Amino acid sequence: MKYFFLPTHLAFLYSFALSKPVQEMNLSERNFQTKAWLVCTSHLPFCTCNCLLSALFFLYFLHLLGSEIAVYEGDILLRRGRRSAINCESCLWPKSQDGLVKISPGSLLFLAITERSWIADALQEISTLTCVQFINRTTETDYVYVERGCWSYFGKIGGRQAVGLVKNGCMDKGAIQHEMNHALGFIHEQARSDRDRFVKIMWEHIMAGNFGKMNSKNLGLPYDYSSVMHYGAYDFSSTPGKPTIVPVPDPSIPIGQREGLSNLDVAKINKLYKCDCCSSVLPKSKGSFSSANYPSPYPNNSNCLWLIRIRRSKIFLQFEAFDLQPSSDCSSDYIKIYNGNSKSSPVLLDKYCGKGALPSLVASGSTMLVEFASDERITATGFRASYNRGTNTALQSLENNISSICI
Ligand SMILES: [Zn+2]
Repeated sequence: MKYFFLPTHLAFLYSFALSKPVQEMNLSERNFQTKAWLVCTSHLPFCTCNCLLSALFFLYFLHLLGSEIAVYEGDILLRRGRRSAINCESCLWPKSQDGLVKISPGSLLFLAITERSWIADALQEISTLTCVQFINRTTETDYVYVERGCWSYFGKIGGRQAVGLVKNGCMDKGAIQHEMNHALGFIHEQARSDRDRFVKIMWEHIMAGNFGKMNSKNLGLPYDYSSVMHYGAYDFSSTPGKPTIVPVPDPSIPIGQREGLSNLDVAKINKLYKCDCCSSVLPKSKGSFSSANYPSPYPNNSNCLWLIRIRRSKIFLQFEAFDLQPSSDCSSDYIKIYNGNSKSSPVLLDKYCGKGALPSLVASGSTMLVEFASDERITATGFRASYNRGTNTALQSLENNISSICI
């Protein structure tokens, strides 16, 4: 039997060598080789499978060669010879006259309802916190369309551009955002030009040719261990229990989260696309935040968002101080709170203004969005709020109160 395996594997490796280095194959490609052989040989004679798979592999990689596409870092598709495009300005999506970057994700109707909702939720979060907006396609000639898989092109390539967002193990909110961030023009965080000051690559434990370093510009923003674009400590490890990437000098710093965009992920999108968005992500289990300049008066014409995200927990929010310009219907300055991660989520507290005590609030899920807006005249000292997981008893009591407030 080994005499039949040998030519198949040789043809396979030769085909791959033409299109990309073997070490840059991702896991699914490596598994595909094995599975294809097993399925084929369970139905057909060895020699038939041998010829069939050799031809298929060769045609597949000839196609990749013709399209000049190569895979880097496991999930980024780049046109051959354009690795330097990592800083390419023409890779960015254009801004509309209203300052927004509008991208159509194409139809999701071929997906299961749960898959659609996961993708919508992940993209909605990007749209809420940045100037990148995902819209229904009308006449756009450059747009993305969702496919099964877990990969993406780097930046805008023009025309109809696929992005793989649907795959087991790749459906976390942060994983979907990770692939979409590649399409927006972002590389892996640990591929940054300055990464060696922040992480140590354990080359002896790496089974694939990932972990390359790019000549990136980094936008003048700090290295971000908590980015959705950062690999996890054991990704692509050749030895169980041995890490491939270790933060320095503190190896206990968590890396590789896929809960959702980090605060710096949001800042980087807005900076890359030169957008003036006031958005923050609060991912810790407790913390506090306030209006700008607090306790001095907040500025006129401000509009800020805080997304609170606590892993697998409800969120308990309390206001320690509250003083906003009063107006009828709170149409001038106001605070508004949503039970979710976007402005299309159910409203937990509608526009609220004035001075004095504000009710405590609890979100039913693990995200809560706080919006603060001021108009062009009259300010006040603003607000200060704190949040935490809360206790079950306190949360239940608050939920009962809040249902009556919302009615
Ligand atoms: Zn990636």
